[in-house]
Amino acid sequence: MAEVEAVQIIAESLKQQGVEYVFGIIGIPVIELSMAFQAAGLKYIGMRNEQAACYAAQAIGYLTGKPGVCLVVSGPGLLHVTGGMANAQVNCWPLIVIGGATNQDHEGIGGFQECPQVELSRPYCKYAARPATAALIPLHVEKAVRYATYGRPGVAYLDFPGNILQSKAQESRIYKALAHPAPPLAYPPHDDVIRAAKLLRQAKRPLVIVGKGSAYAHAENTLRHFIENTNLPFLPTPMGKGVVSDTAPQCVSSARTLALQKADVVLLLGARLNWILHFGKAPRYDKDVKFIQVDINPEELHNSVVASVAIQADIRPFAEQLFEQMNAVNFRFGYEQDWWKQLAVKCKQNRDTVQKMSLNTETPLNYYAGVPPPARAAAQGHDHRQRGRQHHGHWSLHAANEQPRHRLDAGTFGTMGVGPGFAVAAALFCRDFAPGKRVLCVEGDSAFGFSGMEIETMVRYKLPVTIVIVNNNGIYGGFDKDTFEAIRSEGDLTQITPPSALGVQVRYEEMMKMFGMQGYFCTEIEQLQAAVKAANQLTDRPTIINVAISPSSDRKPQSFNWLTESKL
Ligand code: ADP
Ligand code: MG
Repeated sequence: MAEVEAVQIIAESLKQQGVEYVFGIIGIPVIELSMAFQAAGLKYIGMRNEQAACYAAQAIGYLTGKPGVCLVVSGPGLLHVTGGMANAQVNCWPLIVIGGATNQDHEGIGGFQECPQVELSRPYCKYAARPATAALIPLHVEKAVRYATYGRPGVAYLDFPGNILQSKAQESRIYKALAHPAPPLAYPPHDDVIRAAKLLRQAKRPLVIVGKGSAYAHAENTLRHFIENTNLPFLPTPMGKGVVSDTAPQCVSSARTLALQKADVVLLLGARLNWILHFGKAPRYDKDVKFIQVDINPEELHNSVVASVAIQADIRPFAEQLFEQMNAVNFRFGYEQDWWKQLAVKCKQNRDTVQKMSLNTETPLNYYAGVPPPARAAAQGHDHRQRGRQHHGHWSLHAANEQPRHRLDAGTFGTMGVGPGFAVAAALFCRDFAPGKRVLCVEGDSAFGFSGMEIETMVRYKLPVTIVIVNNNGIYGGFDKDTFEAIRSEGDLTQITPPSALGVQVRYEEMMKMFGMQGYFCTEIEQLQAAVKAANQLTDRPTIINVAISPSSDRKPQSFNWLTESKL
């Protein structure tokens, strides 16, 4: 009777369910499993830090719509990825984590790396299970992939003790799972579409908010058509950028505060009314604003604010049907409308302010001084993230997000350290689906420190990633050389070193020398431009551009204090 090894069953089940990429760090007891993955035709990318591997796996899930797998060892390995699992779950991105576990014979008596892994994962998962036998593996793999991708996407965890991984199953006994079809498209109730259309047509100050649910739904063609024809002002969320191009005339990102504050009807397309959108409440919104909320997940409806029209649907069919309704009456929200005039004035004012700052190339450079155009950007860093998010006015001068799913950032969970992992995934995605593109990974010096060693992964797999380190010597901001030395000249370093301070002008770009490659250090705008040009020539390797900016450079003045101003 033919027997099949458990590791082969796992690998072939994943392959059967459409999984293509595995990111991980091997060790006992998952070494043979990683080799089985390759033998089954899955792509395996060995990383340097489990968290980064988990970030890479979820980014590939967001980009392809099929979950990436993150493979880790037992105990500490699994614990190291729980941060990544939480990030994926909070972002609603599909991910499967596979953990090795201690031999079941040794459970309860102090087995090697023994740890309650299924329980540990459960709060960050839609599905967490330990297949009881090798023969049952296909059942759980199918369920894991289905849970990760159907409904609101999220995380699944599969736990494999060493003894299960080393076992075999009789071929005839192996569970036959069907490869399930792509997630079903949820269509909106027709009456709700009509109510939504009516509300929008009656609005004096309408606003469309395009969230990352729209990006995940691949609703770009439909929404571009919708915005172009209705001429409604729209605002992308950070990762909703590029679904409709930032360069579209209807994009009001540069007047974000005004648009949110004064809109009377908001069409919310795949975005949650959480901190990123100030909970949908005053004073960031008009207290009488009406929301039309569209989300794939019914539990999300009415969250934080009771919506006037709440629709459980996929963004794509919803937008198509809404457009039909608006088009039937030739609806167009023309520029002669008072609302458009207000928005236009504010957009121009804010663009001018930021442009002034970006034209100021005095050294040390400020935040806004020329940042190179992103191909597929992973922006990361507390301060830089904020700037990348809210001052797209500036980015648009140099490089607006014109394409969907071309921007990955700290996301809903506000996670630091995601940049290099995301960049690895984005670069693999480009290699396989959009050859010729280079990934731009914008990091603060602090963010880079979280998993800077993934630069070795990028070199090993020949990934075209340009890491730009916006270096201000600290977390939020640090000190210049003289001040840093002066404040630390006398006393116990643990008592006198400010917690926000990092090393002054650390030459991170020299890491490229470890691989016999070149990085760039820039203090002036011309050097930065030359470095970007040189980096753009590279096709088979990463590089680091380390840009020293003023440690006290700040963002453009804000009318609201970020995060603290919303009252519930
Ligand atoms: P953002 O960060 O852009 O504000 P969020 O992550 O807060 O976006 O919200 C995205 C929302 O989109 C989630 O509530 C999720 O359930 C929803 N969503 C995901 N995929 C789809 C889809 N295909 N159609 C509709 N909604 C979706
Ligand atoms: Mg910094």
